Amino acid sequence: MTDRRSEDNRGEAASPHNPAFLVDKNGRRITYLRLSVTDRCDLRCRYCCPEAGIPLVPHDQILTFEELVRLVEVFARLGVNKVRLTGGEPFARQGLITFIKMVRAISGIDSLYLTTNGVQAAGYLDDLKEAGISGLNLSLDTLDSSRYKEITRRDRLSEVMRTFHGAIERNIPIKVNSVVMEDTKDSEIADLVGLGKKDSVTVRFIEKMPFSGADHIAKMDNGNLLDRLRKIFPEMVEEHADIPSTARVFTLPGYQGKLGVIEGNSRHFCRSCNKVRITPTGILKTCLYDDGTLDLREVLRAGCKDEEIAELLKRSVRSRASDGHAAEKKSGRFSEPSMAGIGG
Ligand code: SAM
Repeated sequence: MTDRRSEDNRGEAASPHNPAFLVDKNGRRITYLRLSVTDRCDLRCRYCCPEAGIPLVPHDQILTFEELVRLVEVFARLGVNKVRLTGGEPFARQGLITFIKMVRAISGIDSLYLTTNGVQAAGYLDDLKEAGISGLNLSLDTLDSSRYKEITRRDRLSEVMRTFHGAIERNIPIKVNSVVMEDTKDSEIADLVGLGKKDSVTVRFIEKMPFSGADHIAKMDNGNLLDRLRKIFPEMVEEHADIPSTARVFTLPGYQGKLGVIEGNSRHFCRSCNKVRITPTGILKTCLYDDGTLDLREVLRAGCKDEEIAELLKRSVRSRASDGHAAEKKSGRFSEPSMAGIGG
C-alpha cells in the first residue's frame, strides 16, 4: 500500500499513546466524523439499495439529535474538528436544520458538511447558509433524465438541478459525487465534468463498492477508473493534497472546477484515512468495510459518563483494521449491506 499523503497524518501528536486524541495502532489520527442521521431515503439508487428499499429501523432505535450532539461533543474533545451529515437522505429526517445549528455550535467543530441527493434540499438552501453549512456534496450520477430515472428509480432530476444551481447562486461550496457503473457512458462522464466548466465545482467519480443491499456479494468490476478518466481528459493534471482525502483531485485547463476520483473499492487511501462513521442506530464503524466496532446507543442509553464513552471510543479506534481489505476479510460477510444504512 503506497500513499504519499500518509505522512501528513502522523507526527508526534499522533502517537498511539497520546491520551488526548483518537489514534489507531498505525498512527492514524481521527479528525473527521460522518454521522448518518437516518436510514430513510426518497430515492432507490440501484447500486445502494433494492427497489423495495431496506427494512426500516423503528424510530426509537435511531439516535435522537440530543444523543448525537452529545457524541459529537465527546468526539470534539478528542480532536475531531470536521463533521459530515449523511443518511439515508438527511432531509428525510425532520428538524435537520435545527440539528445542524446544534452541531455548528459545538466548540472544536470547525466545519460541517452535508451529503445529499438534492431532491428536497433546494427549499432549504437559505436555511443551510444561515446555519453555517461549510459545503454540500451532491450525489448525481448522470445529467440525462431517463438515465437518472433508471438509476435512482425515481423521476427527480429537475429538483436536483434546482439544488445544484441554487447552491451556486448562494456561494455554498458544492462537490458532485458520481458513482460510475458498468453502463456509465464516457459522454455522461464528460457532461458531468462540464458542470465545472464555468463554476467552481469539483465533480468526483466514485468506484462502485459492494454496498447495494443485495443478498450476495457481487463481483466488482470497476476497470481502472483513473485510466478511463485520463483517456477522456488527457489534459488533466493531479493536484498535491495537503490534507488527507479519499479523493485524488485534478485540474483541467479551461475549467473553473476540478475533477476527482474516489477509489473506494480499490481502497488506495486507507493509509491516510482520518475518519470514522456512526450509523443511524449508533454503531461506530472505524472503517467503511468493518461490521461495526462499538454500539454507542447501548453505551449512551446505559447511562455511561462522557469520560467512559471517550475511553471506549479510544479503545475502539486503537484496534481499527489496518485497511479496508483487512476489515472486509475480518467481517466475513456473505451479502452486501446497503449504503443507505451506513451513510456512504
Ligand atoms: N442520500 C444522500 C446522498 O444521496 O448523497 C446520502 C447518503 S448516500 C448512501 C451517500 C453516498 O454513497 C452517495 O454519494 C452515493 O452515491 C454513495 N453510494 C451509495 N452506494 C454506493 C455504492 N455501492 N458504491 C459507491 N458509492 C455508493
